[in-house]
Amino acid sequence: MDKAGDQAFRAQNNRERWVENTYGGALSFLRRRYSRDLNGVDVAVTGLPYDASVTYRPGCRLGPRAVRAASVQLAELKAFPFGFDPFEVLAVVDYGDCLMDPHHPESVVGDIEAHIAGILAGGAKPLSLGGDHFVAYPVLRAVAAHHGPVALLQFDAHCDTWTDDGKGLDHGTMFARAVSEGIVDVEHSTQIGLRTFNDSDHGFEILTAPWVHRQGIGAAVDVIRERVGDAPLYISFDIDGLDPAFAPGTGTPVLGGLASWQALELIRGLGGLNLVGMDVVEVSPPYDHAEITALAAATVAHDWLCLLAEAKGAERKMVGRL
Ligand code: MN
Ligand code: MN
Repeated sequence: MDKAGDQAFRAQNNRERWVENTYGGALSFLRRRYSRDLNGVDVAVTGLPYDASVTYRPGCRLGPRAVRAASVQLAELKAFPFGFDPFEVLAVVDYGDCLMDPHHPESVVGDIEAHIAGILAGGAKPLSLGGDHFVAYPVLRAVAAHHGPVALLQFDAHCDTWTDDGKGLDHGTMFARAVSEGIVDVEHSTQIGLRTFNDSDHGFEILTAPWVHRQGIGAAVDVIRERVGDAPLYISFDIDGLDPAFAPGTGTPVLGGLASWQALELIRGLGGLNLVGMDVVEVSPPYDHAEITALAAATVAHDWLCLLAEAKGAERKMVGRL
């Protein structure tokens, strides 16, 4: 039992998986080692605990902690439905959180952008845990500075492209800004799960939640994949893309959304695409029950990591029909 427990700070390398009490020990995302050493690291997981851009209920500054806590069960078993341990081939660290000063919100964009730029400069892909959805804007600035304009796949109840003044910190307008600044390659981008109305699609392909319910997962995956092509794909997962039944812990819930199983099937359908980064945002633990929302966030992030592991050579094995 020498190598057991608290691998978040005791592990010496990024490929180890130790025995842990699921209910105890130091928390990190998927029990990954806390480190800012990005040598050989494929993915850096980081918290962006900012929630002053919301239009309704706050609380998602507490999201990163909750998602780390909810990830413990996913960390102890081989990945389902992949049948492998993603960390045998994929080096992932928990990079800790971006320190921001909420009393100087004008500094937040620069702080997050520099934080993510540091991850990218170190050769790792960013997996960010929000925070409200506005944090995706400075993340995208950093990602586009590194890769050029990226295709965006946005899971959301909302379009987040309402009228933008180019300056405000508003989680309902930042993707209009990202498109106008050319950091999102809108021709290759898709919004999915929407059930709010905007007079313009701003150039996005929009797959509303009712369309997905009627047409099915396969049709949605086909549209997304054809739209992306070989462009670098950044996934921004607003947890309110899920129905409030599957994600009650969020600030602006809207009925009629995706089920958690639909979201997982959609993520799992994106293998082989040029995946450059992801965020999972808008998890507000004060409104959550039984970790439903945090667990959904942890699982979609986990499954994205499994796609990256598969791209690095992890081989799927399955027992049972899939
Ligand atoms: Mn939303
Ligand atoms: Mn959003």
